[in-house]
Amino acid sequence: MNREAAGSTILAMFAAVTEAIEAHKGWLSDLDGAIGDGDHGTTMALGFRAVERALSDKGHLPPSDLFREGAQAFLNAVGASTGPLYATGLRRAAQRLDAVSGFGAPEQVLMLEGIAAGVAERGKAQRGDKTMLDVWLPVAETARAALERGEQIWPVSVAKAEERAAATSSMLALRGRAARLGERSLGHRDPGAASAVLILRAMAETLAHRLEV
Ligand SMILES: [Mg+2]
Repeated sequence: MNREAAGSTILAMFAAVTEAIEAHKGWLSDLDGAIGDGDHGTTMALGFRAVERALSDKGHLPPSDLFREGAQAFLNAVGASTGPLYATGLRRAAQRLDAVSGFGAPEQVLMLEGIAAGVAERGKAQRGDKTMLDVWLPVAETARAALERGEQIWPVSVAKAEERAAATSSMLALRGRAARLGERSLGHRDPGAASAVLILRAMAETLAHRLEV
């Protein structure tokens, strides 16, 4: 367990997340176009590109500093909508990682719990409101439970993310622009839940074989 390995793992994780969001940017904006303003792919790509750029020469910093810098970069790039949500999520992750130097499975779970807590706090949504929280909360709980059972955290977390994102199709939107559509929001997957799955899959790809960093 050392700081350089943790730093390079976190940088690799954000690079994978950015690439995944970039690759699906059009699809995310189309999903948002159906129930919102159609900017979700663009704003998410903008945010994570900024994070990747801000961290590129900072791999020597401890995990908490990387998440704190990432939060600020995301917020500077995306001032509205998902900007404050992910900025708060990354900031809460930073706080949970404050005293640690590694980034193995226990710290990866702290990151997921921090993101879920920050998104919940900033968005003020409840479970079932058809938002990204419908993915982040159950995933954080699933990862924690797997860790405590001594099992691999990522396969179950990704499966849970996919299941919960699909479930948002049959939820009524109660937050954001989509809430104005009422019943017309039914049948559409929430774009924030969809991008959360992309993020989690990219995290899993990078982190599943780096559980002891
Ligand atoms: Mg939007």
